[in-house]
Amino acid sequence: MGRWAFLLLLALTAPLPAQERRIEVVIEGNQQGLDAWVEGFRGRALAAGISPAAFQEGMAGVTFLPKVVERDRRQDEFTKAIWDYLDKAVSDDRIALGQRALRDQAAVLDRIEATYGVDRQAVVAIWGLESSFGAVRGDIPTISALATLAYDGRRGAFFEGELIEALRILQGGHVAPTAMLGSWAGAMGHTQFMPSSWAKLAVDFDGDGKRNIWSDDPADALASTAAYLAKAGWKKGAPWGREVRLPEGFDYLLAGPRTQKPLAYWAGLGVTDAAGGALAGEDWASLLLPAGAGGPAFLIFDNFAAIETYNLADSYVIAVGHLADRLAGGGPFLAPWPRDLRVLDYFERIELQERLTAAGFDTLGADAKMGPRTLAAIRGYQVKSGLVPDGYPSLLLLERLRSEQPAR
Ligand code: CA
Repeated sequence: MGRWAFLLLLALTAPLPAQERRIEVVIEGNQQGLDAWVEGFRGRALAAGISPAAFQEGMAGVTFLPKVVERDRRQDEFTKAIWDYLDKAVSDDRIALGQRALRDQAAVLDRIEATYGVDRQAVVAIWGLESSFGAVRGDIPTISALATLAYDGRRGAFFEGELIEALRILQGGHVAPTAMLGSWAGAMGHTQFMPSSWAKLAVDFDGDGKRNIWSDDPADALASTAAYLAKAGWKKGAPWGREVRLPEGFDYLLAGPRTQKPLAYWAGLGVTDAAGGALAGEDWASLLLPAGAGGPAFLIFDNFAAIETYNLADSYVIAVGHLADRLAGGGPFLAPWPRDLRVLDYFERIELQERLTAAGFDTLGADAKMGPRTLAAIRGYQVKSGLVPDGYPSLLLLERLRSEQPAR
């Protein structure tokens, strides 16, 4: 092979740098198509209990939003290192604004805490993460966003269900159609409830007869969030998690949600608090290593799972828990994040899953999501290869698999 042919082959087969590869999005829908879809949807909405008048009013002016489709298709692409995420999510500014929010809303938070048994710092932390304490509630018309996603069809049934719930909210007169605004995916108001969550858990806390999570006054939204956490099993005064230090020679196979043990068990293995002090308490906890063995370690408790019902991403749950702790006067994490590592992009995560499967550690498909099956596959491979079995999808791991397998 000639030198240029070889270089060309290399250029074709070598993975592009992360920022140059994007998920291809072909938007096939348009306003005409959406209007036709709405015609068909009408009967299903009426059958679900939406009145003809409410349907007419709610769906009037429904607009196809191509940007919403693009965001939906590209959402897997947005992978941020947890340390970059936390830098923004729990910044000094965010903490200061949260402290101000605690003061400004003290009276309503007193009542919320008494009514729902949920710590005010946790409620305010979710408010901070979801809308910067009400400053960024989203300005996309919810009906148009949900109709676009239902019509687009990638997760059509899910979004159609949400659209029907959104119409039901309007039918109940809880908010004016023009004020029902939110995110591109239909999450609404101060704490970004989807319509189905609103239906199940939103409350009228100020007593005006409307469960209004959209208004400038956040009382209903904050109480609804507390109701949500209470339903998810929140334990008042209990931690979400705590940073810990692991001893030399620790068995990393014990990390992960399956090993839930009393604190005394972890203490017996030599696990201490982050400063090296003894662990004390009766609670049960599991060990989480959000950045692998090279980053901070956390023991996590039942309140972690409660926050998880809001958003499953570890980075989100840690941000909410940590922001709440900082608002209560706690300090920053002690162990440094491995900031020199680059996280795998969407395509690299798929490649990792394909290569793990080819190596005999089946990830049951390649969807770029680092779920329990992929974690188990990574660990299986790490154990076989004599690596620290922390289950972390690192670039080093991918490079090792590449070096062992033929080029693709
Ligand atoms: Ca109200």
